[in-house]
Amino acid sequence: MKKIFSTILAGITVFFFCFMTASCSNSNEKCLVMATDADFPPFEYLDENRNIVGFDVEVAEAVSEKLGMTLKIESIAFDDIIDEIENGKYDFGMAGLTVNEERKAQVMFSDTYATGIQSIVVKDGSEYTELDDFFDGFDESGNPIAAKTNITIGVQKGTTGDTYASAEPVDWGFGEENVNKYDTGEKAIQSLAEGKVTAVIIDSEPAKSFVDKYAGLKILETPYANESYAICVNKKNTELLGKINNALDELKTDGKLEEIYNKYIAR
Ligand code: GLN
Repeated sequence: MKKIFSTILAGITVFFFCFMTASCSNSNEKCLVMATDADFPPFEYLDENRNIVGFDVEVAEAVSEKLGMTLKIESIAFDDIIDEIENGKYDFGMAGLTVNEERKAQVMFSDTYATGIQSIVVKDGSEYTELDDFFDGFDESGNPIAAKTNITIGVQKGTTGDTYASAEPVDWGFGEENVNKYDTGEKAIQSLAEGKVTAVIIDSEPAKSFVDKYAGLKILETPYANESYAICVNKKNTELLGKINNALDELKTDGKLEEIYNKYIAR
């Protein structure tokens, strides 16, 4: 009886272990588990066979290869990535992740491997043609006093686009009350295509992919913000961070990073 009980207990422990930590299936394999949100083309998205592909995926594969490790990828909700890296559930996070001070309080970032722009997407023929059009009056230093009363801005929840857009007008935000938050950038874009929001704030490369996919949308020329993308790791994992930075350095000098960039971004 005691034996049956301990067997069941062991089974339960293995069951929970498998579900609580992302790891290699073969214990001899040296694995790196990456957390991403495969909803962010061209950085990470599902191809027609539902494989996760994209710029980040190929950079992560090249980094893992340099480290002599096998890459495993898990797609989770974007706004859980930083928390889960902080909790130690995955080895690193890579998701077109912008480096910012708030996130640095929770995780460590690698050197930058790409730059990004937050852009503004509107419907073709929109009366909003530049950033200033979304505001009603400016103070003597040129900062907005208020957002236009009838605007609604769509963003992906938990992104830097969300943070900037939800700020007060004096900081060039539109005010939390004027922001609609969606689970994915694509849902925000769909909402714009259906005329439910005035504009969407989203990183420029996914913006280009979505504007190609949904008819009748365009990206305004004024960039909303400039950013840097990096890989994040748990704060205790300085050794892994060092190895990732060395690998990124090599990929920058041997031309591999540029090759991947040209394949996915400089299309
Ligand atoms: N660059 C943005 C951020 O880090 C959006 C990233 C994403 O949606 N995958 O918040």
